[in-house]
Amino acid sequence: MEKECVFCKIIRGEVPSEKVLENEDLIVIKDINPKADVHLLIIPKKHIPSLREFKPEEADILGKMLLVSKELAKNFDQAKDGYKIAINVGRGGGQVIDHFHIHFLAGNLTGLP
Ligand code: 5GP
Ligand code: ZN
Repeated sequence: MEKECVFCKIIRGEVPSEKVLENEDLIVIKDINPKADVHLLIIPKKHIPSLREFKPEEADILGKMLLVSKELAKNFDQAKDGYKIAINVGRGGGQVIDHFHIHFLAGNLTGLP
C-alpha cells in the first residue's frame, strides 16, 4: 500500500469509485474517462508499479487478473461478442498511474489498437 497512490486510495476506500467486482486479490472499477462503451480497470490489491516490477512469484496475480475478464464478459452485454485487454507499461507505453492495472474494453472499440 502506497500512501499517495490513487489506486491504493481507491482500494482503501479513501477515493470514491464505481466498483464492479472485488475479491481478496483485486478490484474492478469503471474507468473515470471511458474510451469505449465499457471501460473497466482490473487492479491488484498489492501495489506493484508496472508489469516491469512483477516478480515470478507474483505470476498468479497476473493470471487471476486475466481470468477475471471472463466473469466481467458475462456481466456486460457489450462484451458478449468479445472484448479487448490492454496493458500500458511505463510512460513510453502510455501508463499514467503507477499501480499496475489491466484495461477491459468492450463496445465501440474503433480507433483503439
Ligand atoms: P494508464 O494510462 O495508466 O494505463 O490508465 C490509467 C487509467 O486510469 C486511465 O484510463 C484513467 O482514465 C483512469 N483513472 C485515472 N484516475 C482515476 C480515478 O481516480 N478513478 C478512476 N475510476 N479511473 C481513473
Ligand atoms: Zn498503489
